[in-house]
Amino acid sequence: MAAAGTPTPASDDLPQWGRVLITGGTDWPILGRKPAKGQVQAVNEKAPDLPGPHILRALCNVKMRRVITSHSSCHAVFLAVNGDAYIVGRNEQGQCGFPVKPAPGQIGGLAIYEPLKLDRKTMFSPTLPQGDNGKIVAAATGRSHTLLVTKNGQIYSSGSNAFGQCGHERLGNFEMFTKIETAAYIKEKDPVIAVSCGLTFSLILTTSGKVYALGSSEKGQLGNGRTGEHFISGNKLAFNTFTEPLLIKGLADKKITQIACGQQHSIAMDEDGLVYAWGFGGYGRLGIGSQQDQLLPALVPQFAKENTLTRARKIFAGPTNSAVIDGQKMFWLAGKWKNSGEGSAGQGYMTFKYLPDLMGCRIRNVGLGGVTLFCTAEEDPSLRGSHDATMNVAWGQNAQNGELGLGPDKPKSATKPQRCETLDGISILEIAAGQNTTYYVARNLGEAYSELNRFPEHVDSSEMCVVCQAETKPSRANPGEEDALLECEKCENPYHLSCLTPPLEAVPDGEWHCPQCVAEAADGEEEEEQSTNAKSGSGKKAAGGRGKASGADGDINENGEEADEEESSATNGGKRGRAKPKANSAGASKRRKT
Ligand SMILES: [Zn+2]
Ligand SMILES: [Zn+2]
Repeated sequence: MAAAGTPTPASDDLPQWGRVLITGGTDWPILGRKPAKGQVQAVNEKAPDLPGPHILRALCNVKMRRVITSHSSCHAVFLAVNGDAYIVGRNEQGQCGFPVKPAPGQIGGLAIYEPLKLDRKTMFSPTLPQGDNGKIVAAATGRSHTLLVTKNGQIYSSGSNAFGQCGHERLGNFEMFTKIETAAYIKEKDPVIAVSCGLTFSLILTTSGKVYALGSSEKGQLGNGRTGEHFISGNKLAFNTFTEPLLIKGLADKKITQIACGQQHSIAMDEDGLVYAWGFGGYGRLGIGSQQDQLLPALVPQFAKENTLTRARKIFAGPTNSAVIDGQKMFWLAGKWKNSGEGSAGQGYMTFKYLPDLMGCRIRNVGLGGVTLFCTAEEDPSLRGSHDATMNVAWGQNAQNGELGLGPDKPKSATKPQRCETLDGISILEIAAGQNTTYYVARNLGEAYSELNRFPEHVDSSEMCVVCQAETKPSRANPGEEDALLECEKCENPYHLSCLTPPLEAVPDGEWHCPQCVAEAADGEEEEEQSTNAKSGSGKKAAGGRGKASGADGDINENGEEADEEESSATNGGKRGRAKPKANSAGASKRRKT
């Protein structure tokens, strides 16, 4: 915690990236599915349900900007600062961009258990443009499909295209990220800046503020005034699917700035904070006071008042609900968001309402998952620390896999908003709520972050120093003592302080990754290092309440982080997935192997 009176830096001064946290289900093929009658689901020990947030080990040294999944997805995309995209989860229809039935030696299968980087050179068709233009800057996931947006505003999609939701003419599965080639936005040179996916449809937002829709129009979610319901089965797919992104004409005279898809409904916000909703109206999820399906975008009256503070600032869509953060940072909810009582199927919120439990909270961000709801809010100043820790709230009735992340001894399901104590003291930048799994981007700053466990908790690692192949070595800095073995937080391989190049005098504060893991993460990261060094440096300085809000700048190492400061390693020690000695004031044994 920050010393009393330490001013909290404006959050803009802190790094705008973090590490990926995960909680909830990780056994992708079985999530949300019941075992066949009379069968008991075998527990997959390598893919457990996580009852609380863990640092995703495979990505624990990647600077992540965004995490992306949806209420209907058992897969997720992670976007790094350097423009790389990583993916994890169910791949039964190629939604991760890997073959479902891989050839021997090839990566793929029904699920991608360990997050993988999508190789920019080999995993896209056609190959991504070189340099900046080929960076992945936005993404969205539906039930069985994924859209990725490049910096030059093109979309690559993979997975099920049964309803045209991937934007390709052939209705079938795509098992590789394939560029959408035919669309008016391409002809008009209007680059795509955002995408969103429902169950079996997609929305596209362009730079000029136009919205395009593609996929299933069953409930009017494409906003083109049509559904497919009057067509005769037998040739049904051919009639209610739109494989080419279609301009939503009802929004063509607005400048739309945000889009969001529920399972079968859509919402959009324009530059004035006005909100439009269309598609499936069941349970009042459109928030317009009616349960009727809307085949064209309808203005939500509640956010259309004169006072701009009551207008929308951010919009979100859950499976059967919608949420808005307004200009006063209040949280508004419409539709069905639980199974009994107010807000349930029989008593859905027909218009947007606020929850009394969240009154007085200044909400920054929202995540709406399968049965879950999450908010991050401004933390009380006394608890905020110098890294701008957030107050994190989670609830959701009938959550079963630990996706609320309330902790191992806490209920898995909650009908009312709960403070998520497992994230106390942590600065959450992003939330992505999946069907049964929740992801966060958390700043790698502060004591609470360093206390988090990793997933997987254990990895095979060497007992000996990787460099000298010995376990013990006399210390150079402290004659008569042994040199500390420093353990990499990703691969857990140990290194003597003096075996590193250059050698370290003391155990560094905060995160430490070995040269090999640093090199792997740095692959393709060259340019970004230049632009993010300054920010990460200033954030590091403010970490963990070291009583050094300013002062001598440390060197920036190749990981883009400030190098060690000898005198200040006492605060960030503690457990790291396996039992380790508590940090002492000298900090020498913080990550010494036991
Ligand atoms: Zn050594
Ligand atoms: Zn390592």
